[in-house]
Amino acid sequence: MYLMNTYNRFPATLVQGKGSWVYDIKGKAYLDFTSGIAVNVLGHSHPKLVEAIKDQAEKLIHCSNLYWNLPQMELAELLSRNTFGGKVFFANTGTEANEAAIKIARKYGRRKKENKFKILSAWNSFHGRTLGSLTATGQPKYQKPFEPLVPGFEYFEFNNVEDLKNKMSDDVCAVFLEPIQGESGIIPSTKEFLEETRKLCDEYDALLIFDEVQCGMGRTGSLFAYQKYGVVPDILTVAKGLGGGVPIGAVIVSEKANVLEPGDHGTTFGGNPLACRAGVTVIKELTKEGFLEDVERKGNYLIEELMEIKKQSDIVKEIRGVGLMIGIQFVEDVSNREIAMKCFEEGLLVVPAGNNTVRFLPPLIVEYGEIDIAVRILREALKKI
Ligand SMILES: *Cc1c(COP(=O)(O)O)cnc(C)c1O
Repeated sequence: MYLMNTYNRFPATLVQGKGSWVYDIKGKAYLDFTSGIAVNVLGHSHPKLVEAIKDQAEKLIHCSNLYWNLPQMELAELLSRNTFGGKVFFANTGTEANEAAIKIARKYGRRKKENKFKILSAWNSFHGRTLGSLTATGQPKYQKPFEPLVPGFEYFEFNNVEDLKNKMSDDVCAVFLEPIQGESGIIPSTKEFLEETRKLCDEYDALLIFDEVQCGMGRTGSLFAYQKYGVVPDILTVAKGLGGGVPIGAVIVSEKANVLEPGDHGTTFGGNPLACRAGVTVIKELTKEGFLEDVERKGNYLIEELMEIKKQSDIVKEIRGVGLMIGIQFVEDVSNREIAMKCFEEGLLVVPAGNNTVRFLPPLIVEYGEIDIAVRILREALKKI
C-alpha cells in the first residue's frame, strides 16, 4: 500500500456508478447518499456531463490563464447572473476558494486602515485544510498539530448575535460563515442571525463571506442557500458540486469586494476549460425549469420519512436539514460511525459528521423510490444497533 494514511475509509473499492448507485470491485451495489460529499449533484455518469467532458477533452483540456478560454467565460457569466451579479475567480477546490476569499478580505481591509485585517469565523465551522482555511475553521482538533496558525483570526459562537456583536470592531475586515454548517453536522443559521450579521458587517465596513462549498449548488433547493435566507454576502465561495465531480472552486465577489489586480492572486489550473465546461453543464441542468423545486420536494419527503423513524426510535436525537442536505443526530451512547458502517454493510453510503451526526447528501437527481430504499436501509440498520 503506497498511500499515506490520511483517511478513515470504508472497506470498498469503487469502480463505477450510474445515477444514484455505485458499484464496488466485487460488483456489490450501493445506494449513494454521500455523492462524494455533496459533489456528484447530477449523480454518476450523467449523460450530459459525460458528453460535455468528452467533447471538451477533444477540443482543449488546459491552456493556462495566460490566455482566455470560452468555458471559463461562460461559467463566470452563469455564476454571476445566477447570484448577485459579481465578478468571478476560479480555483480548484473549496479550501482554495476560501484562501482567495481571505486574501480579498485582507486586501479590502488594508485599503481602509492599517490594522483592519481581523477575520471572524464561527466555532465548529469547516472551511478547509490549507493553513488560512484551517485557521478560519473554528475546530481546535483540526488545528492543534499545525500551529502556529495564521494570525488575525477570532471565533464567535454560531447563531449567537450577541457574541458576534461583542467581537466586531473597526479592525474586522470580514466575517466568514457557512449559512448551513455541513461538516459539524448540518446546522442551519437562523434567518435572524444572518440578517443581524449582514447589518453588523455594514456598520463596521467588514465584508460578509458565505462559504457555500457544501450547502451551495442546489443542495438546499435553491441554487445557493443565501437565496433562501434573502441575505446577500459580499463574497460567495463555491466548490464541491460545481463541477459535478470534476475538481473546481470559485469565488464570486460584489463590486466593493472586487479588489484583486493582476499579480495579486492566481493558480495554474484554476478556470481550466475542462473543469469549467463541466461547471457550465451542471449549472444549466440545475437551473432547468422545475429542477430546484423538485429538489425541495424530495428533501421535504425525505425529512418527513426520517421524522417517522425518529418517532419510533429512542436513539435518534434530532433530524436537521434543508432540501437534500440532511443530518440525523444520535443520542450520546450510540456512535454515528457505527451507524454509518451498518448502513454501508446494508448497501447505503452515508457520511459521518460532527455532533454524532450522520449526513444524507444524495445526488440531486435522486428518485422517490431510491429515497424509500435509503429510509428502509436506515430503519434496518438502526434495529441492529
Ligand atoms: C468541503 C468543504 C470545504 C473544503 O473544500 P475542499 O474542496 O475539500 O478543499 C470548505 N468549506 C466547506 C463548507 C466544506 O464543506
